Amino acid sequence: MSSLLVDDIGELVTNEPGGEGGPLGIRRGVALLVEDGRVAWIGPSRDAPAADRRLDARGAAVLPGFVDSHAHLVFAGDRAAEFAARMAGQPYTGGGIRTTVGATRAATDDELRATVRRLRGEAMRQGTTTMEIKSGYGLTVADEARSLAIAAEISEETTFLGAHVVPAEYADRPDDYVGLVCGPMLAAAAPYARWIDVFCERGAFDVDHARAILACGQAVGLGVRVHANQLGPGPGVQLGVELGAASVDHCTHLTDADVDALASPRVDGGHTTVATLLPGAEFSTRSPYPDARRLLDAGVTVALATDCNPGSSYTSSMPFCVALAVREMRMTPAEAVWAATAGGARALRRDDIGRLGVGARADLIVLDAPSHLHLAYRPGVPLIRQVLRNGVLQ
Ligand SMILES: [Zn+2]
Repeated sequence: MSSLLVDDIGELVTNEPGGEGGPLGIRRGVALLVEDGRVAWIGPSRDAPAADRRLDARGAAVLPGFVDSHAHLVFAGDRAAEFAARMAGQPYTGGGIRTTVGATRAATDDELRATVRRLRGEAMRQGTTTMEIKSGYGLTVADEARSLAIAAEISEETTFLGAHVVPAEYADRPDDYVGLVCGPMLAAAAPYARWIDVFCERGAFDVDHARAILACGQAVGLGVRVHANQLGPGPGVQLGVELGAASVDHCTHLTDADVDALASPRVDGGHTTVATLLPGAEFSTRSPYPDARRLLDAGVTVALATDCNPGSSYTSSMPFCVALAVREMRMTPAEAVWAATAGGARALRRDDIGRLGVGARADLIVLDAPSHLHLAYRPGVPLIRQVLRNGVLQ
């Protein structure tokens, strides 16, 4: 058994009951003991038990590692030119996904693996200790299966998104593509996936197709997530709530009925459907941001994630998303930090991450700053000094 004492913590964000700052549960002047990858003790520094090693936080803020619950890392190529065209005035339609599908199919396993590892490393250096990874740029049985196999090498949170768009070769027969997704593609993908996801949007999958695909995934034991209400109003959010989805993601265009559905407590093992907001997508497509205040004020559980992908949000930075949420969506710094940590954990139905209490996984970040406030107050500045994952310095 190895132990590590993180000492001289100026501000510890626990996301546990008690402490200051409401749900952040902030404690000051404390130390935190890690044993075998878990938090074993938190208390005043003067009472700290002996440990094999010591990490001096030098009065800095310590937070749970970020939980990025929505990312598309398995792809090839980039779409910088499409971004430039959009910034010059062309609208975003989601159609560019097919460009990435072509490049992904042409790539070798090692090329895809190198991209996933590069982006995962980039995110880790910015404090992300858990990162969900979706497939969705293969859209053949073999390419979806290999995308998930590669994702599963580095994350336990993997999502089958065979229903990202209808690939060009099925453009005039979407029913056949849905049959492929629910049949051989799901069978090949499921061994490597924890979740199933659908892009339920005009131009992608309608509500009947989306419901059928998600139900097939549920039938083989996958949890449900939905890309919903990004480009316009639609049925995705309410479909997600109806199916007990862990999360509905984007939530940019919501009706009152959508908000009510998300705010309703569900009797589903105590879980509710989280609204995961992805402000990097609105930033990168120069679109109006989701109304976070409306959701928070209605009592909806909100998470923040990057949506890291080569088309509509090519950022792996959770601190950037926190800053956007505060500046552009009127979340308080405390709400944004909670959403990027505990909110992400709820969106993945995890209670061992996104918090720092005894028994939690020792996934934590030491900031180069005295307070979590600096994440939004000092946007664009590399403030992550150290990252521990399972108690191990990364
Ligand atoms: Zn996405």
